[in-house]
Amino acid sequence: MQVDPFRMAEARRILEGDVPLRQLRRLGALLEGDTGVARVQLEFGTDEMGVRFLKGRIRAELSILCQRCLEPMPWHVDLELALGLLHPGEDEAKAGVYEPLMVDEVPMHLTDLLEDELLLALPQIPRHELAVCPAREYVEPEGQAQATAGTKDNPFAVLAKMKTETSNEE
Ligand SMILES: [Zn+2]
Repeated sequence: MQVDPFRMAEARRILEGDVPLRQLRRLGALLEGDTGVARVQLEFGTDEMGVRFLKGRIRAELSILCQRCLEPMPWHVDLELALGLLHPGEDEAKAGVYEPLMVDEVPMHLTDLLEDELLLALPQIPRHELAVCPAREYVEPEGQAQATAGTKDNPFAVLAKMKTETSNEE
């Protein structure tokens, strides 16, 4: 989807909709399955300081591969945008309280922007929490974690603690 964000800001446009994940090729390459959608709410406008902004929220339920066990893991994304729209060469300070967004080309590809934001929301090295990772038994305790590994990796330790707390209350 191509838009002129500056005109959108002047018109105070609000966009809301679902973007199919399969349209986001760069992101799709990192996902385990590209079914589903990103739910997007965007608000263009101009604030009282005259800064043209793009605010919004992106939500998605992604599935990525755990780098420890190579099984899929769910990755919940719920991020907020607050971007100040700038023309190329404009001083970044003009974005005011917003994160500066240089708009190199008008119209701009809105889906590219959304995809960039989603890519940034992915973990560098996706890994399940150790307690729920199917490969946990094969993992050597890491360096300094070694001393506490016995209790840390035992899912029943939490239960035991809860039990103690409950019985204390009685
Ligand atoms: Zn895993």
